[in-house]
Amino acid sequence: MRIGFGNDIHRLEAGRSLILAGIEIPSDLGAVGHSDSDVIFHAVTDAILGALALGDIGSHFPPDDDRWKNAESSIFLKEAVSLMKAQGYTVGNLDTTISLETPKLGLFVNQIRQNISALLEIGISKVSVKAKTGECLDAVGERRAIKAEACVLLEKVSN
Ligand code: MG
Repeated sequence: MRIGFGNDIHRLEAGRSLILAGIEIPSDLGAVGHSDSDVIFHAVTDAILGALALGDIGSHFPPDDDRWKNAESSIFLKEAVSLMKAQGYTVGNLDTTISLETPKLGLFVNQIRQNISALLEIGISKVSVKAKTGECLDAVGERRAIKAEACVLLEKVSN
């Protein structure tokens, strides 16, 4: 087995989309970044790459590369899953936390879990998504940022 951790943060600004696990979340503020700025997909991608000691999302998909401008972040996660499978691993389970002050994400959590589990090719019961606010503190609490953290356990299934 191997364990991995990933995190991500993006600035929030008016006039941008807020995308989480490929879902457009209705919000007056959206995430700023080179790709679609999907923090949860970015954190999960980094957790898988980390478990494999294969660098990070920026080394595989440099932010100054125009190919990834406004790219759907499912591309990054699919690549991490493909590298994982090539080394004979599957995801045992994944635990994540998204930190966002508003809107509340409760209504979207199951769809987010579903979308992640589909890309990881595992059952939804192995995918945990928790949503927290910043309690009006720090950049999250002041609605200046969205953050995500992910912890993944990989299990060897073949050589
Ligand atoms: Mg990111």
